[in-house]
Amino acid sequence: MAAGIRLYIDGDLAEGVPVAASADQAHYLGRVMRLGPGDAVNLFNGRDGEWRAVIERIDKRSADILPETQTRPQVEAPGPWLAFAPVKKTGTDFIVQKATELGAARLIPVATANTQTGRTNTDRLTATAVEAAEQCERLSLPEVSDMQTLDALLNTWPDDRRLFILDETGGGVPLAQALAGANAGAAGFLTGPEGGFSAPELDRFAKLSFVARVTLGPRILRAETAALAALAVAQAVAGDWN
Ligand code: SAH
Repeated sequence: MAAGIRLYIDGDLAEGVPVAASADQAHYLGRVMRLGPGDAVNLFNGRDGEWRAVIERIDKRSADILPETQTRPQVEAPGPWLAFAPVKKTGTDFIVQKATELGAARLIPVATANTQTGRTNTDRLTATAVEAAEQCERLSLPEVSDMQTLDALLNTWPDDRRLFILDETGGGVPLAQALAGANAGAAGFLTGPEGGFSAPELDRFAKLSFVARVTLGPRILRAETAALAALAVAQAVAGDWN
C-alpha cells in the first residue's frame, strides 16, 4: 500500500466497480508517486466511506482504480458552517484549508460592505478543500458556495442554526460562553473583511434573533486568524474534538 495516499473521487465507490481517476490524479499517482498497476491507494467520495483500492491501469492522463474493501464506514459529520468575507488571495485559501481541517461542513464566501476582493473562484477554493480533506483524513468535503451578498446570506440562513458574528468592536459576548450548551454542528460563524463590518451591518445584526455577536478577545485578529480561532473553540467546546 502506498503509505496513506488518499484520493477524493466523484464517482460511487463499491466493491469490484472500477472508478476513473482524474487526469491530475493519474499524473500524481504515476509520475509523482511512481505507482503502477497493483499498487493500492485509499479512496473516499463523501458518501460511501473510505475504500482500499488497487490501480488496475494507469497512463500519463488516466487511471482506473478498483475498490476492494471498505476500510471506514461513512459517518455523518455535522460540522459548523463558516461564512467569511474574502480577504486577499492567500488569506482566503488559508481560511478554506484551515476550516476544512477543522471540520467545517459549509464554507460560504460573503460580499460585505467593506469587502475589497472580487468574486471568489469556487473551483479553486473547492480544489483547496479537496486537498485539505485528503490530507486530514476527513471522509466528507465541506460544501463551498459561490460568493453571495450579505443580504442573501441573512435572508436564507436556516432558522435552526445560530449565526455567531465575530465582532472585533468589542460588542460581543465571549465565544466559549456563547457556545456553552450549543452544538458546534448546528452553529455558523461569520468573519468580516480587512476593514471589518460597517456600522449599518452591525446594527442589522443586532436586530436578528438567530444572530449572536461574539468577541475573540481584546486584540484585532486578521480574518483568517479569527476564523481559525472560532472554529477551534467551537470544536473544542461543543464539537467533535470531544
Ligand atoms: N476593523 C478591524 C479589522 C477587522 S479584522 C480594524 O479596524 O483593523 C477582520 C475580521 O476578523 C473582523 O471583521 C472580525 O470578523 C474578525 N475579528 C478580528 N478580531 C476579532 C476579535 N477580537 N473578536 C471577534 N472578531 C474578530
